[in-house]
Amino acid sequence: MRVYYDRDADVNLIKSKKIVIVGYGSQGHAHALNLRDSGVKEVRVALREGSGSIKKAESEGLTVMTPSEAAKWGDIVMILTPDEGHAKLYNDHLKENMREGTALAVAHGLSLHFRLIEPREDLDVFMIAPKGPGHTVRSEYVRGAGVPSLVAIHQDATGNAHDIAVAYGASIGGGRAGIIETTMREECETDLFGEQSVLCGGLSALIMAGFETLVEAGYAPEMAYFECVHEVKLIVDLIYEGGIANMRYSVSNTAEYGDYVSGPVVVDKEAKERMKIILDNIQSGKFVKDWILECEAGQPAFKAMRRRGAEHEIEEVGAKLRGMMPWIAENALVDKSRN
Ligand code: NDP
Ligand code: MG
Repeated sequence: MRVYYDRDADVNLIKSKKIVIVGYGSQGHAHALNLRDSGVKEVRVALREGSGSIKKAESEGLTVMTPSEAAKWGDIVMILTPDEGHAKLYNDHLKENMREGTALAVAHGLSLHFRLIEPREDLDVFMIAPKGPGHTVRSEYVRGAGVPSLVAIHQDATGNAHDIAVAYGASIGGGRAGIIETTMREECETDLFGEQSVLCGGLSALIMAGFETLVEAGYAPEMAYFECVHEVKLIVDLIYEGGIANMRYSVSNTAEYGDYVSGPVVVDKEAKERMKIILDNIQSGKFVKDWILECEAGQPAFKAMRRRGAEHEIEEVGAKLRGMMPWIAENALVDKSRN
């Protein structure tokens, strides 16, 4: 596995380039601010007219342009808007306006790997994908550290795509933690699988099923919340720091024995078979096709699921209990008015 660090990157390659960050959300604010703090002189943010994000970017002293204007101006255009809108953004604003030989970049391979965008042949096209949420990309950078990132080259029109990509990755802090060489396909398919089966989907479903089982058996929702939600972080911190064995070293022998005998009952052989189906649907393009169709229909199912999730008892009891633990909010990464 090839890994690049700050010492392998020539940040001067992009310091004098005009860099456009399209979108000022989770990743957008982090890339724009980290690039600027790394000495890139000309960073601008592209947002559509009337966007609620304009004042967030301007409050940091960043100049905001429309996507079409910015595409004409920039040497590198990094798309940091939701994946489902990339094709329309590219076709309506970037395709005609980007200058010859400039670079188009993404932070996730979905729209390129599944060919939602068919980039012009004269453009360099690369991915720098931080392996963490945008708010962490910013907070780690500010702390002097970085989030490990992936680099992939989709198209190398100028012969410089790779060096530019690594310099970009280092400028957002990735070079402090490691920038790992991969392909769009590998990044995209492993990312979708991980977030669906383990990180977002698997974990949320596991938490909810545990919470509901306790509450339905008559236990207090507050107790169920502490056991099945609050403590997840404490356990995950131990796994993050030293692996699953490190967590098992720290918990009691009783907890460790219960882990061995009950864990595989919950996530059994059939669960793994179902994971395989999820992976097949990602690899075949079925998942992305369904998601794009859902978006074209105005996201009715997506919005309904989001609303049902937010109305679940687990959120109500959670908000109440977190209100009793003020230190959680003091260290919050997300401030919806600013980032
Ligand atoms: P967000 O949902 O946070 O992006 C929202 C921002 O995009 C807002 O500023 C929004 O402005 C703007 N936006 C939306 N549509 C348009 C448009 N058509 N033109 C201009 N601006 C627009 O995105 P994320 O940061 O979550 O994701 C961005 C990319 O990064 C995706 O490709 C994602 O896969 C990737 N990624 C995300 C990670 C994360 O941490 N979230 C992790 C790694 C990769 P408005 O106010 O107008 O809506
Ligand atoms: Mg991911």
